[in-house]
Amino acid sequence: MQFEESRQWRAQGVPGAPRFQEHLNLVTAALEDGLARQDLSAFYDAFRSTDLPFIGAAHSMDAYEIFRACFDILHRLGGVSPAAALAIENHYYILSALSTFPTRDDVALGERRQALLKHIVNNRLLIANTSTTIHSSKLGTRGTHARRDGHGFRVSGTADYTSLASQGDILVFISVLEGEGPAVFFAPMRGNPGIEIGPLLLPDSMLESDTRRITFHDLALSDENLLLSGAGARMEHLLSFEMVWHQLLIPTLYLGAAARAIEEVRRFLRSTTGLDDRPLAALDGMMVDVGRLFIEYRSARCVALQAGQGLGSLTEAPLDTQALSDIFDLASASKLVGTRCAEEILAAARRIVGARAFAGGNPIERLSRDVMFGPLGPKVNAAIERTYGRRVLGESSFLEQC
Ligand SMILES: Cc1cc2nc3c(=O)[nH]c(=O)nc-3n(C[C@H](O)[C@H](O)[C@H](O)COP(=O)(O)OP(=O)(O)OC[C@H]3O[C@@H](n4cnc5c(N)ncnc54)[C@H](O)[C@@H]3O)c2cc1C
Repeated sequence: MQFEESRQWRAQGVPGAPRFQEHLNLVTAALEDGLARQDLSAFYDAFRSTDLPFIGAAHSMDAYEIFRACFDILHRLGGVSPAAALAIENHYYILSALSTFPTRDDVALGERRQALLKHIVNNRLLIANTSTTIHSSKLGTRGTHARRDGHGFRVSGTADYTSLASQGDILVFISVLEGEGPAVFFAPMRGNPGIEIGPLLLPDSMLESDTRRITFHDLALSDENLLLSGAGARMEHLLSFEMVWHQLLIPTLYLGAAARAIEEVRRFLRSTTGLDDRPLAALDGMMVDVGRLFIEYRSARCVALQAGQGLGSLTEAPLDTQALSDIFDLASASKLVGTRCAEEILAAARRIVGARAFAGGNPIERLSRDVMFGPLGPKVNAAIERTYGRRVLGESSFLEQC
């Protein structure tokens, strides 16, 4: 679908419309099939063949509508493979942030953003991204540096985390530009001699997230590959806005895993009888336990949806720093609550279904393996909790904040 051809699809492209569901069913089936065959290439072919990857960028939807569509897609895929859904989430959060970042007050940035979006949509590109941080003895260390070179740039160094690394067509990344501060670049990813896609970073975990270490070998970029550079309010807003999208979308896929676990519990309890020949589902204690899981899931889902609605209100340019910070905190809380809830629901599901969940063929095994990664990023929980703790322990009464 071409960037300009948005209107026709829009009518059918929102969640709930037949075509959206049809495409989502197709992609979900391809993921299940790919996992069984341990080869996700057909899943990515199926995903690319639908209109789903470019939802939002190709259609005039507002931020909340885009969020709801991504929610439905990631929730469904997360119920099959949280790791694969994480790879897709990385594409969506960058695309959604690019599509919705308000730029009315900055013509140059607005034009660069539109040109990049058009390039992505018209060429049906999947986006990988990296903040180019590395595992080092100092947290937050970036492994890359960039310098100006004539009318362009050169980038060298290493980035530890890049999901969707072998399927991504274009890489959006943050580096430090010599003497100027942070810079957001993009570059073609496949077959690019300047970007070496290395081995899986986590060789025994989250395999389907395709998270790899990548190395930049004096990568040459033109001025057109730069989205924004330099420290300042605009950069802070852009990076925070991207992170809001990331923190908002991460819990949706892990909540998908939680929902699937509850469904597996339901199936097990209804299809298995106790020694008295009554279905386990008829036990009052089971009803209480499962009801508690539903309430946990529902509460986390409510926070996620409320945070998504908050994002929809950020349309004015320049962004209001306080409003952005408030949404950032809400998105962070949603990430923390949603990912923690998913871990707890999977733990409870394992206890209810028992060892047969690991006897082969039960999704609880895969979901259990992956959900532990939910709380680990993008923003670590200790940092989120500290922000909230600081607010509670300020001079004003907590009751005024409630
Ligand atoms: C499967 C997977 C895929 C990923 N894909 C991508 C990707 O495609 N692109 C990308 O850019 N990134 C990616 N990431 C990185 C992710 O976005 C986070 O940056 C990362 O998960 C942070 O975890 P870390 O262990 O590296 O944190 P670190 O910053 O190394 O922190 C390690 C530990 O230090 C402590 N700590 C850290 N900060 C604080 C703090 N402020 N206060 C108190 N304690 C603290 C915590 O205990 C924390 O667990 C991925 C991560 C994973 C796990």
